[in-house]
Amino acid sequence: MLNVNQLSVHYGMIQAVKEVSFNVQQGEIVSLIGANGAGKTTILRALSGLVKPSQGTISFEAQDITKKQPEKIVASGLVHVPEGRHIFPGMSVMENLELGAFLYRDREESQAILKTVFARFPVLAERKNQDAATLSGGEQQMLAMGRALMSRPKLLLLDEPSMGLAPIFIKEIFSIIQEINRQGTTVLLIEQNAKMALSIANRGYVLETGKVVLEGTGAELLESSEVQKAYLGG
Ligand code: ATP
Repeated sequence: MLNVNQLSVHYGMIQAVKEVSFNVQQGEIVSLIGANGAGKTTILRALSGLVKPSQGTISFEAQDITKKQPEKIVASGLVHVPEGRHIFPGMSVMENLELGAFLYRDREESQAILKTVFARFPVLAERKNQDAATLSGGEQQMLAMGRALMSRPKLLLLDEPSMGLAPIFIKEIFSIIQEINRQGTTVLLIEQNAKMALSIANRGYVLETGKVVLEGTGAELLESSEVQKAYLGG
């Protein structure tokens, strides 16, 4: 479904991503893990067209999207939930969700999708008229994911969904990610929480200073001594 080949990204003189190749097959959860500054966010930004690669190609469903505009990429079904969630304060939960449905001009269709999002996140339905800025961190993460689901993604890119959340919310978010996946959405997840990210992943890649240094199934990586030493404190 997604093929990234020899991707490099520079910020001025700094090379944040160095000839990275990986793929995501339809139906999978794939996790990219790595320490701060490993280049994870930059890779997602390149996939969404928010930064231009200096080298390499990105193809999504057999189409070259390397030079496409971000709005075209979203419309093709690749949707990014950024780090920090980027919800809109001063707007209600409902208004935030409606912004995610901009691809659907048909009101009936967007109302039908809204129903499925509320069914998945009942807390958003309960709080639909509340200012989004007053939600807890975990609820804001659900809102950001709900907003992304409003555009019916084929591939969902999640940037550190567990960041800043209490353990109980982290568990809930990860089980929601698995449920979204079971219902047919492919997921590319980037995380510093390697244990959680690998335990739900079909496959994973480990990044260090902009390079892929290891790859395998989620279970293989969880058991590998390199991953245990570097990321799991073992
Ligand atoms: P984190 O988990 O801390 O977000 P990351 O793995 O997502 O880390 P990136 O945010 O992709 O890493 O950053 C990779 C490298 O690129 C870092 O060295 C970072 O300082 C640098 N970088 C990121 N954004 C910019 C920018 N806009 N301008 C210059 N350098 C940047």
